[in-house]
Parts: sequence; C-alpha cells; structure tokens
Amino acid sequence: MKNYQTPRGTQDVLPEESYRWQQVETAMRQLCRLYGYDEIRTPIFEDTDVFKRENDSSDMVNKEMYTFSMGEGDSLTLRPEGTAGVIRSFVQHKMYGRSELPVKLWYKGEMFRHERPQKGRYRQFNQFGIENIGLKSPLIDAEVIALGYQLVKNFGLSQIKVLINTLGDAASRSAYRAVLKEHFKDAVEELCPDCKRRYQQNPLRLLDCKVDRDHWSMQHVPSLQDSLTEASKTYFKEVLAALDALKIPYEVDEKLVRGLDYYTDTVFEVVSTHPESGSQSAVFAGGRYDGLVEYFGGPEMSGVGFALGMERLILLAEAEGIILDKKPDCDVYVMALGEVGEVPLELATRCRKAGWITECNLVPRSLKAQFKSVDRRKAKAVVIAGENEIQNHQITIKHILTQRQVTVDLTQLEETLAAMLKEEGE
Ligand code: ATP
Ligand code: MG
Repeated sequence: MKNYQTPRGTQDVLPEESYRWQQVETAMRQLCRLYGYDEIRTPIFEDTDVFKRENDSSDMVNKEMYTFSMGEGDSLTLRPEGTAGVIRSFVQHKMYGRSELPVKLWYKGEMFRHERPQKGRYRQFNQFGIENIGLKSPLIDAEVIALGYQLVKNFGLSQIKVLINTLGDAASRSAYRAVLKEHFKDAVEELCPDCKRRYQQNPLRLLDCKVDRDHWSMQHVPSLQDSLTEASKTYFKEVLAALDALKIPYEVDEKLVRGLDYYTDTVFEVVSTHPESGSQSAVFAGGRYDGLVEYFGGPEMSGVGFALGMERLILLAEAEGIILDKKPDCDVYVMALGEVGEVPLELATRCRKAGWITECNLVPRSLKAQFKSVDRRKAKAVVIAGENEIQNHQITIKHILTQRQVTVDLTQLEETLAAMLKEEGE
C-alpha cells in the first residue's frame, strides 16, 4: 500500500493548530483596518513573465519558481511572492486613476518556492504583505515599517530588531555597481557559481550571498554610502528620523540589499534575535520600488511594501513562549437520556442562536460516556434532556463549577443558562 504523505516542504495545518492561524489573520486584518489598507486577492498563479522580469538576478526568480505549462503555449508560475501580482493587478485595473493616492493594499496567502526545506523554510508557505503605491515620501516608508513592527509587537514578540539600509536612487546604484565590479574583479573567479552570475547581472546582489560571506573579498567591501547621491542621502536620513519619532529601534546595516532586484532607496528586514530562529530569522522584509508600476505598463509611480512570513511569526511566538489561541472551550453541553428524539438537537440549536458554543450528544450513549465528553470539552454548563423531564416539558440545567442544578420549564432554557453562565466569574 502506498504511504500517502504531504509533499516535501509542505504541511497540513491541523484543526488544533488552525486557531493560532486565525488569531494571526485576525490581528493582521484589524491592524490593516486601522491603517486604512484594503484587501486584495490575486490568483495563486500568474503568467511567468509577471515574476520573471528581464535581467532579474534573484535566486527566487532564477532557481526557486514552480513553473509549468498546460501545453497551450503558455508558461505559468505559482506565485513565489505577492508584490508582482499586486502591481500587475494595480496596473491592469488602472487603480491609479480610480482611487486617491497612495493606494494601500494588503494581501495574504500561499507562496511557493522550491527551496531546501528546513524549520521555518518551506516550499509552500504563507505571507501577509502590504503595498503602499503611488506616492513617494520617507514618512510613508516609516509608516509601512511601523505597521509591520506594530503587528509583531502586538503579537508579543520581544526579541526582534529592524535592520535598514538604503540602496539609493537609480543614479546612486549605477555608480555603486561600477565600484563593486572593480572591487570584485580579482575575486569573482573564487566565488560561488551564483556570485559569478550576480557579478555579471547585478553586482549589488553579491552582498546578499550566504555562501561566500566569509570570503576575503566580502570583508572590506566599499560602502554604498560613498556612491549615494545627495537626494538619496537626505531621503534616507528622513526615513530614520521618522523611525526615531515613532520610537522604532533600528540598526543601519549597510550590507542589507534584499533578495529582489526591484528595490530602490529604502530596504529593511525585521529579524528575530532569538537563539532558536537560526538562519530563518527574518520575520518580515521589504522596501521601496520605483520602477515596478511602470514595468507593468502603468505610469511612473513609486511604491513601498513588505511581506511577512506567517509560519515564521508563529514559530517565533512559540519559541518566545507566547500562548497562542487554541480551540475555545464549550459553553454548553446538551445531554440526551432515553427516548427523547430530536429534543436535544432543538435545545442545542436554541443555545447556538443565543450565542453559546454548544456541543450536543446525538447518538445513544451512556450517561458516563456523555459526562466524559462534558469533561473533555470543558463545558461550563450541561443541559440534560431526560425522558421523564421532557414528558413534563422540563429540562435540568447544571452548572459544572458550582455544581448547582435546577429543573425548569423548557421555555426557560435561555434565561436560566444566561444567569448561570454569568455566575462563573464570581
Ligand atoms: P530568506 O533570506 O529567509 O530566504 P527572503 O529574502 O527570500 O528570505 P522574502 O522574499 O523577503 O524572503 O519574503 C518575506 C518573508 O517571507 C521572509 O522574511 C520570511 O519570513 C518569509 N519567507 C520567505 N521564504 C520563505 C520560505 N521558504 N518558507 C517560509 N517563510 C518564508
Ligand atoms: Mg529566500
């Protein structure tokens, strides 16, 4: 017999775990409401070109994409990230002309990357992300970082830090590329195959290499700071000043270049400093992109955003000992004794209408077995529909904690339970 299992790098979210996922999702939704972001849902697959842009040197695009064709001359790719699809949609629906700028969007959903699976690194994983599109201001960059930071803080993560850097504008970057080409000229032959490719395609990405981190050529790399235009320097200073004003602690990390090629000016990564996070320490990351809207055929427009790894957020919360939501205990358990027909189901339905989490015994079972279920579901109150009582149009209601028990008329179900459930806190 074949042993059916989840594919490598994927996982089932089991019922007992789904509550913490819902908790994270609820927190995200609420925060986006406060910041005025609207949800957008784009397809899980797109034309490959949406992700694979000309001359893109990132690993994600070059090595990690799930690309397939259905033989219709098309090439499709399971989305490895959210931004490209959102910008494609922004342009396709001409959102820049319909709404006030900036357009503020959030998304969440599954992303797919063919990576080597490890703790906190999967082939199917979930991201929550935001995109703020249409205007450029250092204050917007700071506000975007603040939203992500607040989410992680609200969740209770304490061991985190914001790493931030600027890649400068187009002029700064092209000047810096030339400097890097010169610096790595004699080293490139000794570097990993990816670095050789990066040297040709986009030398900036050399600084993001995880393999050659300790190579001599990586030790005294000329700083991008020296290639920055005055405008870019000022812009970055203003981002930092805004973070100071918002009391968001950060560290300027001149080596931070981020994995994707489309970033300009501000880039950031929020990492966990918890010992268990290992090399999967980035919780969320993002930056500003200047050319992307135009690339997809829209007007010249800047945007900024980040994506947060939801699995990583949950793992880190657990590592920090934060108690996450679990299945809620039940308020009421309806027991059935003897030939009572559909009465228990009717009673349970009334309880649910009243807003109580209710379980109901729907198959013939002994009293003992039913009390076991009451225990297991940690019910606060029990409604007992016994044969004799039902004949008299009555039910017995028992409060588990106080052991108080009353027999009342069937019509008094809701008011009796309401009073009893209130007792609990006393
Ligand atoms: P890393 O350096 O860890 O590979 P990345 O730069 O590829 O991250 P981004 O593309 O910026 O990551 O994605 C944003 C966030 O999504 C990351 O900070 C991380 O929390 C999460 N993430 C990225 N790849 C994975 C993955 N394979 N499995 C789980 N989460 C991931
Ligand atoms: Mg990666």
